[in-house]
Amino acid sequence: MQYPLSPDVKPEFCTTGSFMRLPSKRDGARLAILGMPFDTAASFRVGARFGPQAIRQASMLLFPYNPVQGLYPFEETHAIDIGDLSVIPHSIQRSYQIIEAAVADVLRQGMVPIGLGGDHSVTLAALRAAAKAHGRLAVIHLDSHTDTWDTYYGEKYWHGSPFIRAAEEGLVEPSRVFQIGIRGSLNHPGDLAASLDLGYNLITMRELRQRGVAAVVAQVKERIGDRPCYLSFDIDFVDPAFAPGTGTPEVGGFTSYETLEMVRSLTGLNYVGFDVVEVLPSYDPVQVTALLAAMLVYEFASHVALNLRARGEAWPVPAVPEPAPAFR
Ligand code: MN
Ligand code: MN
Repeated sequence: MQYPLSPDVKPEFCTTGSFMRLPSKRDGARLAILGMPFDTAASFRVGARFGPQAIRQASMLLFPYNPVQGLYPFEETHAIDIGDLSVIPHSIQRSYQIIEAAVADVLRQGMVPIGLGGDHSVTLAALRAAAKAHGRLAVIHLDSHTDTWDTYYGEKYWHGSPFIRAAEEGLVEPSRVFQIGIRGSLNHPGDLAASLDLGYNLITMRELRQRGVAAVVAQVKERIGDRPCYLSFDIDFVDPAFAPGTGTPEVGGFTSYETLEMVRSLTGLNYVGFDVVEVLPSYDPVQVTALLAAMLVYEFASHVALNLRARGEAWPVPAVPEPAPAFR
């Protein structure tokens, strides 16, 4: 059987529950999609626990071949979807242990993880696993918020703090962390200083617009080089006109086209993990947020395939099956 299943084989509305109907096991898999449906560290709207299944549902609209990058992202990586992790809704600490163990297992098997959130707190657990496997990480963090706030009502672990905890725990190399797309009103004038104090590169949406994507991407590539790099994508990076289904939307973001073009241009980096977080289906009435998130997963997978190709390790693509008679 060729994966992802082609609509020539089975209509795409016949779901299997996995991303693009990928299998859960496959020989030589180099990419694993996993759901991290934990959302009780959110400060405002909750419900991102339903993000993974919404993203998988939307993925049925995608086709196997990426014409922009010129490859089959899931075939060349022999991608699998290992389903949702059994997080504990009332315990962030136990959920962190479960997520970290699962991501560590994926990495140990030579696969690149793509996590589906969940609120942004889940990223800390994935970073812990990735840093144990690869050492201090470079990070590309696309978000309208820095998530470097310290405590909230006395709690250290919530969706506004993963990137301050990551620095404190020594998981990242601060000079190679880029927080891009930051915007919106703040609680205090000094809120953004926390990111700079940690030594992170903070690029506001305004700066991104003024300097342009190409200049910022060139800076990111120059600074990160071939270091192990984790890309964390908070869907509220995108303008809520294009991605309304999220917990803390901020107007004034990129369109979906601008977002995809920027993500596609981030080639040549040594990616060791990805996530897309904060997709909140109950605020996503026409599922456009979930569709964009699915497309981002698709582009992340394409980066993994590009890197495998560069190392001569991409899986060969079987001959494309003849279209079924009904499609002619
Ligand atoms: Mn955010
Ligand atoms: Mn965030």
